[in-house]
Amino acid sequence: MSRDDAPLPPPARDWHALSADEAAAHLDTHPVRGLDEADAAERLARHGENRLPLPPGKSALLRFVAQLTQPLVLVLIVAGAVTTALGEYVDAGVILGVVLVNAVIGFVQEGKAEAALAALARAMAAEAVVVRGGRKQRLGAHALVPGDVVLLAAGDRVPADLRLVEARGLQAMEASLTGESAAVRKLPEPLPADTLLADRTNMAYAGTMVVSGQGVGLVAATGGATETGRISRLIAEAPDLQTPLTKKMAAFSNWLLLAIGGLALLTFGVGLLRGERAFDMFMAAVALSVGAIPEGLPAAVTITLAIGVSRMARRRAIIRKLPAVEALGSTTVICSDKTGTLTENQMTVREVWAGGDRHEVSGSGYAPEGKIGDDDYPPAIDGALRELLVAGVLCNDAGLFRKDGRWEIAGDPTEGALLVLAKKGGLDEATLQAVFPRLDVLPFDSVLQYMATAHEVEGVRLAYVKGAIERLLPRCGDMLDAAGDPALLDVAAIERHAQAMAGRGYRVLALARAACGDGALCEDALAAQPLTFLGLVGMIDPPRPRAIGAVKACHGAGIAVKMITGDHALTALAIARQLGIDPGAGGALTGRELAVLDDAALARAAVACNVFARVEPEQKLRLVRALQQRGEVVAMTGDGVNDAPALKSADIGVAMGLSGTDVAREAAAMVLTDDNFASIEAAVEEGRGVYDNLVKFITWTLPTNFGEGLVIVAAILAGATLPITPLQILWINMTTAVLLGLMLAFEPVERGLMQRPPRPPQAPVLDRALIARIVLVSVLMLAGAYGLFLVELAQGATLAEARTVAVNVFVVVETFYLFNCRSLTRSFVAVGLFSNPWVWVGAGIMIGLQLLLTYLPLMNRLFGTAPIGLAEWAVIAAVGWLASLVVGAEKRFRLFAPAGRAGGR
Ligand code: ADP
Ligand code: MG
Repeated sequence: MSRDDAPLPPPARDWHALSADEAAAHLDTHPVRGLDEADAAERLARHGENRLPLPPGKSALLRFVAQLTQPLVLVLIVAGAVTTALGEYVDAGVILGVVLVNAVIGFVQEGKAEAALAALARAMAAEAVVVRGGRKQRLGAHALVPGDVVLLAAGDRVPADLRLVEARGLQAMEASLTGESAAVRKLPEPLPADTLLADRTNMAYAGTMVVSGQGVGLVAATGGATETGRISRLIAEAPDLQTPLTKKMAAFSNWLLLAIGGLALLTFGVGLLRGERAFDMFMAAVALSVGAIPEGLPAAVTITLAIGVSRMARRRAIIRKLPAVEALGSTTVICSDKTGTLTENQMTVREVWAGGDRHEVSGSGYAPEGKIGDDDYPPAIDGALRELLVAGVLCNDAGLFRKDGRWEIAGDPTEGALLVLAKKGGLDEATLQAVFPRLDVLPFDSVLQYMATAHEVEGVRLAYVKGAIERLLPRCGDMLDAAGDPALLDVAAIERHAQAMAGRGYRVLALARAACGDGALCEDALAAQPLTFLGLVGMIDPPRPRAIGAVKACHGAGIAVKMITGDHALTALAIARQLGIDPGAGGALTGRELAVLDDAALARAAVACNVFARVEPEQKLRLVRALQQRGEVVAMTGDGVNDAPALKSADIGVAMGLSGTDVAREAAAMVLTDDNFASIEAAVEEGRGVYDNLVKFITWTLPTNFGEGLVIVAAILAGATLPITPLQILWINMTTAVLLGLMLAFEPVERGLMQRPPRPPQAPVLDRALIARIVLVSVLMLAGAYGLFLVELAQGATLAEARTVAVNVFVVVETFYLFNCRSLTRSFVAVGLFSNPWVWVGAGIMIGLQLLLTYLPLMNRLFGTAPIGLAEWAVIAAVGWLASLVVGAEKRFRLFAPAGRAGGR
């Protein structure tokens, strides 16, 4: 339970024991107007920013040691120890140096990736609604100071420790603080001083989550002074740097370890049997191990993934969990919200139906320029029409204001549109709200699908209600006619008009009112007596133009796009049509229809249908599970508290950065900074690109390791001197990995990437064709290096000269082959010779280094190399060019691609 009993410094004050007014007095603040800006600035300077001390995480030392205990690194350390024992101190020094350099690169990269992910994760979940100087505003949570007045709503993360002064249906999840997994009901009343932390129902603690209701609280403590800060619990979990690919790689290195160990023992044994010197055989075994280990691979994987994360961020998709980068590449289904993600969420009322009359509304956007009804016969704004406008204004949390000459809204666009509508009808929302102050509210909730507020109107307590027609109409008993008198409820006419509006793609809201008692506004109180129907409004929310293109791109990429919405089925279908989403044979499926399907039928329907309407958030989870059960890789968007389970279960949970709740963002693997569906599509494209680049790197790096291994084994079997020494092998592996291989991480996304089907998640990293290519290049390297080595010796060259030629063969073949690897299927000319300038930069520096290795006396001494002549260089270049041609031909004629799969990878 609570951690109160831990020996910790006591909190500054027992805020829960004070009354709300006393608390406000102690904090020297006004519970309604809040602090003024100058005061807040002064307090900020005094108390510091509202930030938690950084989470401790793993210690640097532990992280560094973890770098050294990877299996392949252990082999290198053993190799270094053996060479030390043999007295080969230069070799030993270089081997251990490589180990160290590798560990440092891995350590730094991992640290950077971790810090970047953690920073992104934190940055996305840190805003608060604050009242200062009587004005509501959104602030970064870090700017909060003691005394600030903070508004809480369902889905928010509590930004600081708050003494609540108002709570309506407010419930918070405090598991992160108290371990209690059930939500706690919050009320502003003072409590005894000895109340335990977990039972302080008049406090809301930093880092906990508001799961329902609304509330107002005074900031009592910020930053390290909060309860969370005091017991120093982490809020953001350390990001996981393991991805499916890195796990596969770990398995691969274990396998490689066994293979190398076995092979080294074998060569050692064979050599001894043939009467070689034990010392030589030890060195051969060392050479074999360092040669066969792809030293640059782990660093390349992290760096490529990190580059992917930053590319996605530039395209407005913030990755919170690294595995999402990869999963994005194999996404087969994207389930998207409609409102705000596929559409603009720019609501404009187009049609009103009240008192039996239908009126069109002119104008667009949030500017209240336009009219209700046509110009020649404008309707009188009275009776049912007037009541409908009033209901729309009062049952409303949005604000309409002018900023820099433009009309803007704050809050829910659906509600903003109703304020604009009232203004077009000549009603001023500020006046109405002042004359009929709100007494209570039942906030909108996507499960209820309606919202209600209570007001005192001419001495009577009235509830105004607005919401989905299916929810409200059955509760209505009568309606108002054009003159404002009660009339018989014409259900058929209302439904007909609602259907017609929805069929035009409009979002339809029903408005109603009822007399209500003095009790709190709640569902039961509203159900107790019939409502009076006031009318319908139909508003448009046009599809986002970029979403239309993105849906098309997804279809081209073999990815199904499914719309999941709480909106009316006809509205959903009309928007789907505009977006190019084919609903499937059965049309739209509604939440009510889904509810009666068993799991098998649901799985079938989830695959076959693309438009789901009137869906409740809980049903999203069932849909995700059903799709996953069918082997789909699912990306699912969501913004509300109730969406969190679905976001967590999806392969890629996608939350909204602008409109979403903190709870949804916390559960998501990815956050869209512009809430736009097109950004998901962009992230999928980048995800595919990142994965491609990793495969390119692996295809490029493995032949070198196989080639080097083969050269050593061949030399031992032939009973001859090693054509390359362990030291030279390390030189080749390290320099080429950094200067050549890593440049592949900067390969831009290939053309046609989004015309391929998604990669099956269980598919091996390398398919048969790529493995065959790797073997081919390895053999070419073996033939070139060993062949030229023997030729040189035969022509009377020294051992050092012959070895220098062999080393240069490896590096030059790798350089040529790097260009082949820029695309797995196309020739590098087709990719665009200069589309990745880094490849040229790397190749240039690499050649420079090889010249130093060959001609610099110091390098000659260190690495056992010697200067070679121009003729040798010519032959080496020819070998490299030839190898590149062979790979090009293999690609061109798909020698290794299985027949019937003309598309290749
Ligand atoms: P979505 O975001 O998927 O379009 P919502 O769950 O937001 O769906 O809305 C579902 C339905 O609830 C809408 O069709 C509308 O009838 C009603 N609704 C939406 N917003 C509000 C609101 N602010 N107040 C009252 N009712 C609303
Ligand atoms: Mg919505």
